[in-house]
Amino acid sequence: MRYFSTRGGDEELSFEEVVLAGLAPDGGLYIPAEIPKLPENWEDDWSKLSYQDLAVVILSLFISPSELSREDITELVYNTYAYPQKFRDPLITPLVPLSEKRYILELFHGPTYAFKDLALQLLGNLFEFFLRRRNTRKTPEEPAERLTVVGATSGDTGSAAIYGLRNKANISIFILFPRGRVSEIQEAQMTTVMDENVHNVRVAGTFDDCQDIVKTLFSDKEFNERHSLAAVNSINWARILVQIVYYFSAYFQLKKSLAGSGTSVKPDIQFVVPTGNFGDILAGYYAKRMMLPMRKLGIATNANDILTRFWKTGRYAKVNPSTGLGVRETLSPAMDITVSSNFERLLWYLAYQSSSPDDPKKRTTACKTVAGWMEQVKKEGQIVVPDEVLRAAREDFVAEKADDAQITNTILKYYEGSPSYIPDPHTAVGLHVAALVAKEEIVEPAVQVILATAHPAKFSAAVNQALGTADGFDFDRDVLPHEFRDFLARERRVIDVDRPDAGLVRATIEMVVQGKV
Ligand SMILES: *Cc1c(COP(=O)(O)O)cnc(C)c1O
Repeated sequence: MRYFSTRGGDEELSFEEVVLAGLAPDGGLYIPAEIPKLPENWEDDWSKLSYQDLAVVILSLFISPSELSREDITELVYNTYAYPQKFRDPLITPLVPLSEKRYILELFHGPTYAFKDLALQLLGNLFEFFLRRRNTRKTPEEPAERLTVVGATSGDTGSAAIYGLRNKANISIFILFPRGRVSEIQEAQMTTVMDENVHNVRVAGTFDDCQDIVKTLFSDKEFNERHSLAAVNSINWARILVQIVYYFSAYFQLKKSLAGSGTSVKPDIQFVVPTGNFGDILAGYYAKRMMLPMRKLGIATNANDILTRFWKTGRYAKVNPSTGLGVRETLSPAMDITVSSNFERLLWYLAYQSSSPDDPKKRTTACKTVAGWMEQVKKEGQIVVPDEVLRAAREDFVAEKADDAQITNTILKYYEGSPSYIPDPHTAVGLHVAALVAKEEIVEPAVQVILATAHPAKFSAAVNQALGTADGFDFDRDVLPHEFRDFLARERRVIDVDRPDAGLVRATIEMVVQGKV
């Protein structure tokens, strides 16, 4: 399998190249040259596979054996999705029934209790594998290849990246976060990691400042090349790829559960996904395109609803025209975005589907269309897509949103439900939206599967706001995992940077790399 950039189209790269590059030099995102077909007997053959073996067969469809052999992939996958060493549930992503019609796919049983672990645990192992292979091919005189991962976080990404890369040979990781603006638990998760290759940089500034600094460092060509900077944000193709696996896992778990209740049919599923940068749900789109049977994917956004507005109107606009506002702080901070970075990948498929069937260079034409759209978003803050593009988008997706009051009401409603379930505020967005999107189908789907993206303990403020006055509720007893209790008291390691200044951060990284800190 080869890959190309959504804004280029002519040059093709290997899986290894796109994983190490992250973003394409033309500013585009890498996508596979084709969407692989499932083997004919996938439904029977795959139904008996463990999560790990399912991951092996799915990854193998997207990675050429000449790059990673079946044995390589198997080893990577088994080292990553290891129970109980890395993940706390033997099914890795267990499906939990809330009612006959509604299930939760719990994606938070990894080391940092957020769904990002599923991708970043594997990405860390992939980086290490590629570096090791490159270095063993070198003569002893040649210097070893190294990677310096630099990223900004407002919470979940940073801790999941740190846990994915801690203690990896020839890799250093620097995570910038805004001082006083990440939750106590998230800061504790990041800064209590004592591995020598992990560096937390606490910046006196906002998350946007941190992100701007990271962008400045990546565009500093000399610095970038000298340190071999690498990115782990959600535009990295490997992150999308490994997330496809749990859609299949959910399908088979549901099938088994329905068979147990005597209804042996193809499950009629609608997935509903709390969405920010469109990474998690894009993996669902690939599963759908691979022909995993499912209804339209439900996009669930919070008040930062650029995607919901797009699906309603065909206008993709950074500023909400009815409020005149850009990004807003909500109770589901991991979804507080102005633009949705992975949406560009979907736009490419929409542009391709809506271009003329007679065009001999359809792929390149779609890339040009996408490059034009993205340029316009950058310059004018918005685009309006042609009707046929919006129609294509609506064939595979529906979208709705939830505001903060709906989030807290939903947490309370499910807590009081039977069985009682406490969703985190992001999952609550999904649960609220699930009820709305089911009605938009002509025949309601038999079952909805809502992806639970984080453990509720990570977002104590929102959960306490929703349940603080509920009868008999006790956060420490009902929500807080044992592991979190002593977290806050543990030893910490963090570098403070007193101004949001790229030069200062660059100097800090230099000093750390040279061993002067
Ligand atoms: C990152 C994150 C999301 C959003 O995922 P995307 O792939 O960016 O759409 C939702 N919920 C939680 C808890 C997250 O950490």
